[in-house]
Amino acid sequence: MRYGQIRKYDVANGPGIRTSIFVTGCPFKCEGCFNEEYQSKENGTIWTKSEEDRLIKFVSSKHVSGLSVLGGEPLAQDDDLLNLLERVKRETKKSIWLWSGYRFEQLNQKQLNVLKYVDVLVDGLFILNKKNLKLKFRGSSNQRIIDLNKTRDQGKIVIWSGLKPGQ
Ligand code: SF4
Repeated sequence: MRYGQIRKYDVANGPGIRTSIFVTGCPFKCEGCFNEEYQSKENGTIWTKSEEDRLIKFVSSKHVSGLSVLGGEPLAQDDDLLNLLERVKRETKKSIWLWSGYRFEQLNQKQLNVLKYVDVLVDGLFILNKKNLKLKFRGSSNQRIIDLNKTRDQGKIVIWSGLKPGQ
């Protein structure tokens, strides 16, 4: 896995103060992509055990409510991401949010395995003509914020209930 940046404290991607990681490499080419420089894996730094330890330390901070994983495309990574998320959940018990261009219904078993550790999935490609700056935590109105814990419990897609009307 390679990554473009880690933000120790991020208030833009998910609720509360979160640590975020932007992985690099994405098979999609959305027009108006908010992170074009992360589409190519070549732009990323190679992930190492010491980076993993550093990130776990950030997420463990009492000021941080969880981890947000963005890209690039988190669901087109090797097992480094699966291992990281498993460790974050086991060691910190904090919430994990993940943004993907894939729709939930499209995911294969390997991608679903990554989501076992994820609480909230923001899914779908960024679509320029559906762009809406008023939306929270997503760029275009086709994207959904899915509560994966409730989705797993109920066996159907459940939208995260943390938004106010119009968000
Ligand atoms: S899925 Fe995300 S990172 Fe990939 S091209 Fe689309 S907006 Fe950019």
